[in-house]
Amino acid sequence: MILEDERRQVVEHASELASLTPGRTGNLSVRGAGDDADAFAITPTGVPYDSFDVRETPVVGVDGERRDGEMAPSSEVPMHSSIYRREDVGAIVHTHSPWSTAMAVCHHSLPPIHYMIVAVGKRVPVAEYAPYGTDELAENIVTAMAEAESTACFIENHGLVVTAANLETALENTVHVESLARLYLQSTAASLEPKTLSDAQLETVLEQFESYGQ
Ligand code: 13P
Ligand code: ZN
Repeated sequence: MILEDERRQVVEHASELASLTPGRTGNLSVRGAGDDADAFAITPTGVPYDSFDVRETPVVGVDGERRDGEMAPSSEVPMHSSIYRREDVGAIVHTHSPWSTAMAVCHHSLPPIHYMIVAVGKRVPVAEYAPYGTDELAENIVTAMAEAESTACFIENHGLVVTAANLETALENTVHVESLARLYLQSTAASLEPKTLSDAQLETVLEQFESYGQ
């Protein structure tokens, strides 16, 4: 079976979407390794996250063409394939998680109000609206992320996209962005004015992160 390990990761982690995004919304994908880097495994379209197995999990080429899997792939294949064509990333998570989507409906980027933002960049930009599942939306997302040098972006009136080297990190960073969006909205809702970190302060955090952890 092609991309068996990546399909297994999709099945195993899809349930984590349930705690992040309402209903059947959102999707995630994992790119193949080595010679298989020209294809990715992705969640099937429009099904509950616990309702498909490894064999049913769709495999799609970075050219956007369906390759394997018994179920039809996510409607956001153009978004995932465009990102994989242009960026050296291993996984992508897309959600309609509420705090990030609140930022998205306000067309409001997330400034550096907390040092954890450096997990994805120095801010989270907003990609211009286009209908879901379209090449135009994919283009808007790739452009917004590249301009902001960020691995996350809000999508106007839609939701959030996060990319990373692997699926665990993409999911973890999705949770970070969601919690930062919540912090921002709660402090502004209290009619307070969140202060931002300076570029120098963010650079220091980036240096510290190089040796963070065990
Ligand atoms: P899919 O079920 O086709 O992945 O669509 C969900 C979604 O969030 C579209 O933007
Ligand atoms: Zn969506």
